[in-house]
Amino acid sequence: ICYTLCNISEIINDALAVVQLSLKERNIKIHKNFPRNIATFLGDCQQLKQVFINLFLNAEEAMKNGGNLNIKVAPSVLDGSKAISIKIADTGGGIPLEVLNNIFNPFYTTKDTGTGLGLPIANRIITNHGGKIHINNKPGTGVEFTVILPLHA
Ligand code: ADP
Ligand code: MG
Repeated sequence: ICYTLCNISEIINDALAVVQLSLKERNIKIHKNFPRNIATFLGDCQQLKQVFINLFLNAEEAMKNGGNLNIKVAPSVLDGSKAISIKIADTGGGIPLEVLNNIFNPFYTTKDTGTGLGLPIANRIITNHGGKIHINNKPGTGVEFTVILPLHA
């Protein structure tokens, strides 16, 4: 890990810049809810950008006919310490239960040309930062990933 001072809004905006054209082409609307003042923290900004790119690409691939991508950043607590939570919710129909049990397994994919590495890598990067990824799956509606990062890892 290459630690520098990270700003979560900047990281998410950088990740969005990578995918926003293809999201637009798929009629996916981006809704951002970022607090005005959000604490900075030490982390590997490039690796964290990769986490959000992976999550955004999965959301895009789940919303073949368009939809909404909601991104909400808020102060949070992790194991009693100050943290930051990033919620990423899509309207792509959610994850079938038999798939859900495998999504963090390397090379597990339901896609013809998937690598099955997006979520395992995201999970590894977040764990290395002392954080956690939670999944709130709403079959038929969509899935919400919550990334929680401690401010002092
Ligand atoms: P890949 O995208 O290459 O398949 P990932 O590790 O990124 O690999 O995702 C693993 C699997 O998890 C996907 O193949 C898909 O079935 C499921 N998945 C991930 N994100 C979503 C999502 N937002 N909505 C529905 N299914 C998802
Ligand atoms: Mg993926």
